[in-house]
Amino acid sequence: MTASQDRAPVDVSLGLFDQDLLAACISCGFCLPACPTYQLTLDERSSPRGRITLMRAVDSGRLPADDPTVLEQSSYCLGCRACEPVCPAGVQYGALLEQWRDLTWSGARTPPVAAALRAGMRMTPALAAAGRVRGAARTTGRARGDGVQLMLGCVERSLFPGVSQAVTRLLPGIEVPSGQGCCGALHAHSGGSTEGHHLAERLGEALPGTILTTAGGCAAHLVNVLGRDRVHELSEHLVDVWSASEAPALTDVRVGGRRARVALQDSCHLRNGLGTSAQPRDLVARVADYVELPSAGACCGGAGTYSLLRPDDAAAVVAPKLDEVESLDLDYLVVVNPVCQRQLVTALRRRGSRVRVVHLAELLALALPT
Ligand code: SF4
Ligand code: SF4
Repeated sequence: MTASQDRAPVDVSLGLFDQDLLAACISCGFCLPACPTYQLTLDERSSPRGRITLMRAVDSGRLPADDPTVLEQSSYCLGCRACEPVCPAGVQYGALLEQWRDLTWSGARTPPVAAALRAGMRMTPALAAAGRVRGAARTTGRARGDGVQLMLGCVERSLFPGVSQAVTRLLPGIEVPSGQGCCGALHAHSGGSTEGHHLAERLGEALPGTILTTAGGCAAHLVNVLGRDRVHELSEHLVDVWSASEAPALTDVRVGGRRARVALQDSCHLRNGLGTSAQPRDLVARVADYVELPSAGACCGGAGTYSLLRPDDAAAVVAPKLDEVESLDLDYLVVVNPVCQRQLVTALRRRGSRVRVVHLAELLALALPT
């Protein structure tokens, strides 16, 4: 029997989804234990398999796109893609979710917060001004060629300007072209996949070389649109270039006279979308005592716009992780994505935790000789 004969039939189709993607699920349920929303509810409808069943019902016209359960489950999904690496049929759930949200979050059904963020992130001059005001890395002018070019991002430039500053210390002389906008990941994940694709292409024109990004979510989106060759995520890039002869002499990051204890929170899209998880751990271990957070690979609840749209659900998702962080006697929790940074900074601060949340670039910059 061939792989295509194995697939469940999608009898009638309104053509709302890519048929090959939709047909790939064989309903085995292997993804259920990996899904955070299923783990919280034990409700089949809140699982990847249940959501694909809902997508099929919409695609065949058995349910309207604005059915309350369809709307709720498309929104409740974190988009973390933890269901992908465990799926024996290779279901591309992230791509299906983008198509689903294009249907459920279109027009008047777009959540106002998502619509406002999508509008704000398309204003390149405003992003540039925010970066200048906040003190992100200074741009070096228009892109000069096809070397490595630092992407400043939108959320990160505005909320965590120290990250790009740290990268310019780790990689002196790196080009930081002006005129860069948002990569469109936020749009693609919140009902605007066509615009998200277009913004990625536009960023690819502003940064025509190798795009270096410090955000796992942006990396996965840009790879999807521009291809693997054009995009380097920071940890991948540093491990590559420092395995040559360019590694700086890093010192230990120390706290209270001892080597710092540091854990990592994976970026879902970096780990589940691009398969990158060893490199950030390797880099942390070069400068500190690395401690594996048991739930490092599980979503923190930040999830793009999720923590803004569904703060109670985001809090429920992150709660067990906060208990773990507190139990490990950590000094730092390292992140590789700005939305995770915002979510964990906020959640740990609310708990009065002494653990500092920093981006990998910021931790490594602390280890540079002064
Ligand atoms: S593991 Fe894959 S094939 Fe199996 S139910 Fe989940 S999405 Fe479908
Ligand atoms: S993306 Fe995450 S929350 Fe959504 S179905 Fe997959 S595992 Fe569950």
